[in-house]
Order: sequence, then C-alpha cells, then structure tokens
Amino acid sequence: MSGNPYPLGLRLAGRRVVLVGGGAVATRRVPALLDAGADVLLVAPELTPALRAHADAGRLRWQRRRFAADDLDDAWLVQVAVDDPSAAAAISAVADERRIFCVRADDRAAATAWTPAVTRQGPVTVAVLGGGDPRRAMAVRDAVRELLAAGPSRLAPPPADAVGALGPVRPNRRGGQVALVGAGPGDPELITVKGRRLLTEAEVVVTDRLVPGLLLDELGPEVELVDATKIPYGPARAQEEINRILVDRALAGKAVVRLKGGDPYVFGRGGEELLACAAAGVPVTVVPGVTSAVAAAAGAGVPVTHRAVAHEFTVVSGHVPPDSSASMVRWEHLAGLRGTLVILMGLKNLAAISATLVAHGRPAQTPAVVVQEGTTGAQRTIRSTLGVVAADVAAAGLRPPAVVVVGDVVGALDS
Ligand code: SAH
Repeated sequence: MSGNPYPLGLRLAGRRVVLVGGGAVATRRVPALLDAGADVLLVAPELTPALRAHADAGRLRWQRRRFAADDLDDAWLVQVAVDDPSAAAAISAVADERRIFCVRADDRAAATAWTPAVTRQGPVTVAVLGGGDPRRAMAVRDAVRELLAAGPSRLAPPPADAVGALGPVRPNRRGGQVALVGAGPGDPELITVKGRRLLTEAEVVVTDRLVPGLLLDELGPEVELVDATKIPYGPARAQEEINRILVDRALAGKAVVRLKGGDPYVFGRGGEELLACAAAGVPVTVVPGVTSAVAAAAGAGVPVTHRAVAHEFTVVSGHVPPDSSASMVRWEHLAGLRGTLVILMGLKNLAAISATLVAHGRPAQTPAVVVQEGTTGAQRTIRSTLGVVAADVAAAGLRPPAVVVVGDVVGALDS
C-alpha cells in the first residue's frame, strides 16, 4: 500500500471495537481502548489472566471462540492480534469487505490502519507513526514525552493567548481553579506525575515549609510564588489568609496550585482549604501525595507492614500532649495495639507519649526508629526502643520534621 498515512483521532466512546486474539498483544491494546470508552468485543478461545480480569469485571465482552464474520456486525474498527497469518488475513478480508479499518499485529504492510506510539500529558495526546518502523516511532515518542515532562517552559514560548494550551482543563478562559497537590515527603522525585504536570502549568503556587525546594526551582519567572510560612499572624489567621489568597487568585482566573508536603489530607489542613474554595464557588482538584507517614519509614529501610510481623499501621499526630484536655487521641488504647504506630509531629511530646504507651501496656523494649527529613539528602535516623526513644532523640539532637515509628517492623528487613 502506498501513500502517507492520514492521522485521525478516533472518538470511540460507546462504539464497538472488535479485538481478535487473547494473548500478549491484545493485552497491551485493551487499556487504551477502554480508556477511550470503546465498547470492546474480544474474540478468542483463551485469554491471558489480565484480559480475563477485564472480562470478569465486565469492562469488555468476551466471545470464547475463534473469529466469525458476524463478529464485525456494528464494528467501527477491528484489531487483529493473532499469531496465525492466514487467520489474520481472513479476518482482514472480512473487514475490507465491510469497509472497516483493520489494524494487524502480524503484518503491518497489509493493514489498513496503524496504531501509533502514544504519550499523554493531561488533555494532550501525542501520537507518532514511524513510517512502518515501530521502534523509530517509540524513540520519537519518548523524546516528546521527555520534552512534555520538562514542562511548557522547555517548549517554544507560547503566544500570550495560548498559555494553557497544555494547561489544565479550564471551565472557560476566565475560570480559575485551585489544585491541592501533595508534593511528597521530601525527595523531589516523589511528587506524582499529575502533581508535577499541574505544577508546570500553574500561574500561582502557594507553598509550605515541607515542600521540597527543588520543585520550586523549576517554576518560570512569571509564576507568582506565595510562601505560606512567611505569612505573619498566628496559625489560625494565617490559614484564613492562605484560604483568601487561594480564592482571590482563582476568582481572578488564575490556575492556582496549593503545594503541600506529603499528602494534602494527612495533617495538612487540605480539607479546610477545599471547603473555603467550595464556599466561594472555586473548582478544586485534589492530587494525593506520598505521605511521610509511610515514606519516611521506607526511607529508613522500615516497611510499615510486613508479613507475619504487622497487619496494621496506625498514623497519629503527637502535637498535643496525651494528658491535655485538647487531646483527641486515646493513647491508652493505642498502647494495646500490636502493629505499627507512626507518630507525626511527635518530637516535642515524645517523652510523655512513650511513657503513656508503656504505662498502658506496650512493652518498653518495642523497637522504634526516628526519621528526620526522610527521603531527603539530609535524612537522619536513630534506632531505639520505646522505653528510651525520647532520651535518644534528645541526645542525638534530632529535630522536626521527623516521624517516630514504633513496632516490630523496625528491624524486620535487617539481615
Ligand atoms: N501532610 C504531611 C504531614 C504534615 S504534618 C504528610 O503527608 O507527610 C508535618 C509532620 O509530617 C512533621 O512534623 C513530621 O512529623 C512529618 N514529616 C513530613 N515530612 C517529613 C519527612 N520528610 N521526614 C520525616 N517526617 C516528615
């Protein structure tokens, strides 16, 4: 077949796509078809376990047999992923007869349609055809993906009115919005792909003490950076002020990212910010993050659960002393748990917390680890036991931010 391929973006939502074959190629084709909302009919005598799972979950329909011409009734597209070339040719012939485009895994030259190498970045889809050479297509795709991941600033500067071409889905040109984004525990590479994309697209970024500084290094000079830790007033007023900044900027039409250490909803006051935006009619997206409650332990080589060692982990804030009337934690009950206890914001009250846990029955020799600035280049850890951990922290001079992990998981991976 000659002539250049003519690229199209097929809108498959609710439209029948027939996939013939139940092996590795079909397994790789299915997720994108489902993502496009296609009504997938899978025809194959046997399926891989992954395809079987899609069928069992009702995400596609499975005909457990070999292909029959009637399978193409109502089809808009057919993909052939069978090994036998004569069977593939026969399916392709039926498709031709019915004027249905046919992708063939066995013989690209004979196919009437080719699947490109694809990368997606938010609303943008880049599809690359390599002129018959799939490896060339993938290499070009990988280069484009890297360029996109580096953010719009690495691309040719967009004309002013095209800012946001790669941008978040905005309700309209003036419709600002807020994204509450978890920045991860400290290592700048531990932000999510989605969080990083929204950050590269932001016009206003409001940050916190715990946000990895390197993430902010990449922001363009035109981005307004608000450091929430520099807001004067007490904590309560400061939070009101942050809420006001988020709402004001969004109502002015800006794409606002509120970056928070770890996960926005783990002791991060993300919920308050969400409610403030909602009350002002500002659309909010929440992007979860890798929380230090799990990641700082991992950074110190400690799994929060481990087979036959701990079947639970409990995350608790230690910022209120156990004997305070303001305490919302039943420390005496936590003392009776056998699993892993992860204490955030607990250094200041660690002596009182550990004494309370021991007094109510957690053995003093339970292993403990304290991790300061976990997952960063400045990470410091000390190993101890519940009975003496507070003294050890004081002696070592550990400072916040730090998590305290108590339980037999500490040491579970020691060889
Ligand atoms: N939303 C954050 C937690 C905010 S509360 C999260 O999900 O991780 C602040 C507390 O988190 C700190 O006092 C400390 O206990 C813990 N913390 C955050 N980052 C940390 C890190 N890199 N290493 C150790 N502890 C950390």
